[in-house]
Amino acid sequence: MKCAPFDYVRASSVEEVVKTLADADGDGKILAGGQSLVPVLALRMARPSVLVDVNRIAGLGSIRSDDGAVDVGALTRHSALVDQTRHPLLAEAAKWIGHTAIRTRGTAGGSIAHADPSAELPVVAVGSGATISIAGPGGTRTVAADELFVSALVTSLAEDEMITTIRFPKPTRWGFAEFARRHGDFALVTAVVTEIDDAVRITLGGVAAVPVRAAQAEQVLADGGTAREAAAAASAEIDPTADLHGSAPFRRAIAAEMVRRALAQAGID
Ligand SMILES: Cc1cc2nc3c(=O)[nH]c(=O)nc-3n(C[C@H](O)[C@H](O)[C@H](O)COP(=O)(O)OP(=O)(O)OC[C@H]3O[C@@H](n4cnc5c(N)ncnc54)[C@H](O)[C@@H]3O)c2cc1C
Repeated sequence: MKCAPFDYVRASSVEEVVKTLADADGDGKILAGGQSLVPVLALRMARPSVLVDVNRIAGLGSIRSDDGAVDVGALTRHSALVDQTRHPLLAEAAKWIGHTAIRTRGTAGGSIAHADPSAELPVVAVGSGATISIAGPGGTRTVAADELFVSALVTSLAEDEMITTIRFPKPTRWGFAEFARRHGDFALVTAVVTEIDDAVRITLGGVAAVPVRAAQAEQVLADGGTAREAAAAASAEIDPTADLHGSAPFRRAIAAEMVRRALAQAGID
């Protein structure tokens, strides 16, 4: 199938994006890397009347860091995340996104806004306590990652808002483990372990509509339990649904193993 007709606007500033989206009155869409949006348009699952191309906006593709965190511009390509060394967890997670062509075009802002339950960057965002800067008609607001993701492919972004930056705190220790059926496939289960402010967080992707913290597993570790006990607790506390790719018990078993591996990588046993 081919996309339904739309007007194309190549924006040169964030303000122009926000105004164009506001003028479209809920019928506009941002085009970033196009890796998720274009297939949706081609299948006519979305029929926006206006596409706002943000790729030529200057300054949104940079990665900056200070002692505590890395600021990733919304237009930063996944491949640039792989290549940077300031946030090793982000680099490791980005390696697992699709194939080279997808990593070359796809953007951090697009991945966060698309909110796929199996995508890597949302899990890292929740796991590392990231904050998202969002531009809208009333100015810029900041929201915590775990408040942005509402449901599968649904965020708390308004229709006339644009993500501009994602701020990822740097964990003192981290681990990342993912299971996919084939190289480049979306993950069946992703586990992210981070140590931030001396507390260990365990976050899982692919087991619910949004990335979820394994609070009981975290408590096991806080109480002096072992990595294996924490992995078992994580597996028991999630409630994954079955789909074409695997049953709920299968995902629970994979989750236990991914948590164990991520904890081992973080040096927690
Ligand atoms: C074959 C294939 C395999 C893939 N495998 C993986 C994978 O393993 N893991 C993974 O995480 N992803 C995977 N992806 C998706 C890929 O990571 C996309 O790059 C990402 O989901 C969307 O980023 P994008 O820049 O391409 O966004 P687009 O496709 O341009 O946009 C996606 C959505 O986000 C909105 N949007 C984009 N930028 C912004 C912004 N700054 N502010 C607000 N809204 C915005 C758009 O309007 C649209 O609704 C795969 C894609 C393909 C085609």
